[in-house]
Amino acid sequence: MTNDQWPVHMLSQKNFSPQQLSALTALALSVPIAVGIFISYPVWWLALIWLAVIFLCSFALISYTLQTFIYRKIKLIYKLIYQTKASKREEFYYKNILPQKSIDEVREDVEKWAEQRKAEIEVLQQNETYRKEFLQNLSHELKTPIFAIQGYVDTLLNGALENPDVNRKFLSSTSRNIDRLVNLVDDLDEISRLESGEQLLYQQNFVIQDLLKEVYESLAIKAEQKEIRCFIKKGCEQPLTVYADKEKIRQVLINLVDNGIKYGKQDGTIESSFYKIDGKTILIEISDDGSGISEEHLHRIFERFYRTDLARSRKVGGSGLGLSICKHIVEAHGQTIHVRSKIDVGTTFGFTLQSKKD
Ligand code: ADP
Repeated sequence: MTNDQWPVHMLSQKNFSPQQLSALTALALSVPIAVGIFISYPVWWLALIWLAVIFLCSFALISYTLQTFIYRKIKLIYKLIYQTKASKREEFYYKNILPQKSIDEVREDVEKWAEQRKAEIEVLQQNETYRKEFLQNLSHELKTPIFAIQGYVDTLLNGALENPDVNRKFLSSTSRNIDRLVNLVDDLDEISRLESGEQLLYQQNFVIQDLLKEVYESLAIKAEQKEIRCFIKKGCEQPLTVYADKEKIRQVLINLVDNGIKYGKQDGTIESSFYKIDGKTILIEISDDGSGISEEHLHRIFERFYRTDLARSRKVGGSGLGLSICKHIVEAHGQTIHVRSKIDVGTTFGFTLQSKKD
């Protein structure tokens, strides 16, 4: 730094310590007064003594005021924003480092702190809304089968039990609603385990078409009831090996094929296709030619309990958690799931998996 640069540099620096600030102010105060005295009594040593006395007194006073009234308050603010009780390290910081900070830097620190808090509060508010919605949905989902069970049991107890025309029918309806409750609890259990990140993935190499055939078989009776034909698309039969948690992927495929059956049309089809996208990824698609999902619902379809047509979906549907479980499982594999659909044309769910690991 050259000589003519340093005063400019010093003045432009925001980083005055309380001592420097006091010294500068004291100097700004004492020099004009001393000059004034020298003009009135042109005795240089007297002016110098006045300069020294005024400088020292004002320096002491300003420095004391700054320390006591301003920096102590700032320290208090720091203590407040960085939690109330200061640790040894923080005490050291307040005593030795903070006083070096300019007011501007302190302001920046406080602003940064305020922004962090704002972001934290926003996340908390979002979680709160999410929690409220979840509880509302959950109680709604529980209420429907519980009230149905209550109704059937009350009717049976009030005499219908002795009526052979209805007793079996009411009991099987009760049993169906109990199954629904059990499914809901199972799905909730599954989703809470997935969300807590407790579940580990047991990944292995397996042929995805073989797993899909097993899933088709397990859902064959259900498909037959609606005369839906399930098959693998022509040209996609060549075995593709993926590296994933087989049982979890089975669950994804069951949910998707089951939805295809539930929301598919009578006498319709479910077609699966498999593509090698690049050396590392396999794309799996399950398509149906059923009712389809309208544009407005598509982006929310993976949310918990989200249903497109409430009355109809609840009648044929399950817990409303199926797709949300699928999304969790696929994302736990570091992959993605998506949907394309057109009303009355059909729906295609697709997800990716890592291809075989050597
Ligand atoms: P649900 O247990 O109700 O089937 P899901 O999470 O599996 O719950 O699906 C959520 C909603 O998405 C369903 O209620 C239904 O409205 C819609 N849906 C899912 N799959 C299909 C499909 N293949 N065709 C049309 N709508 C579908």
